[in-house]
Amino acid sequence: MSTQPTTHSATASTEHSTPLIELAGVDFGYTSTPVVEDISLQIDAGEYAAVVGPNGSGKSTLMKLMLGLLRPDDGVARLFGDPSHQFDDGSRIGYVAQHASASKEMPITVREVVKMGRFPHVGFGRLSRDDWEIVDRALETVGMGAFASRRVTQLSGGQRQRAFIARALASEADLLVLDEPTVGVDMESVEAFYDLLDALNSNGITVLLIEHDLGAVTEHADRVICLNREIYFDGPADAFVESDALARAFGTTANLLGGSR
Ligand code: ADP
Repeated sequence: MSTQPTTHSATASTEHSTPLIELAGVDFGYTSTPVVEDISLQIDAGEYAAVVGPNGSGKSTLMKLMLGLLRPDDGVARLFGDPSHQFDDGSRIGYVAQHASASKEMPITVREVVKMGRFPHVGFGRLSRDDWEIVDRALETVGMGAFASRRVTQLSGGQRQRAFIARALASEADLLVLDEPTVGVDMESVEAFYDLLDALNSNGITVLLIEHDLGAVTEHADRVICLNREIYFDGPADAFVESDALARAFGTTANLLGGSR
């Protein structure tokens, strides 16, 4: 694939950037039973990839292995070129959890949440004027400028997820990892949410999505990784729709794409 408008210079080879995520022959189990097995994949800068699979198929586990929150029993996991568990530049990764549930109890405003994105850059110091500009720009980008002073407890699910994306933008993350971000979000906001992800990806942010909504995945992601302990499919979203990987991984012939709404 050479869709990139690269120049034919002698230095072109140095432009090959390190994959953001690299797994090679990864096995992992919480007990002696493997939860993921022989996983090899890499995610390059600029991709929009989605991991799909039935409940309990190992999606969250795979994500934790990628991010170094778990260590492989066998094989190698790398993040930005370093062994994942040793990677320590948190500002490069924006993580949006399922339903941002941890935030529900936080009595802080949207702007304060987004401000946290600057912490890796300023340490315990005060935010400079430039930092605050970055915070406000991030809020505008996700369409939450008008809600900056509202408490996160007083937001809808979709708005809360936008606030957490803004935090990732404020940290100037180059990789956005989202774990079923639209669970509990109303359908209209889900559409807008995916449009926002599309726009961010077009602007160069790498998106890695774990998603149960197969319709959204095939519509928005470029690449689908279908998992059920092992990888059943890894390729373009169009080819995934045409393939029988879905039925094999989900163990059903049901029409899981479309028809569910
Ligand atoms: P998914 O995200 O696809 O639903 P998970 O990665 O959460 O799947 O889980 C995969 C399997 O690992 C499931 O059988 C689950 O019960 C098990 N599992 C997940 N987390 C733990 C844990 N902390 N301790 C033991 N087993 C776990």
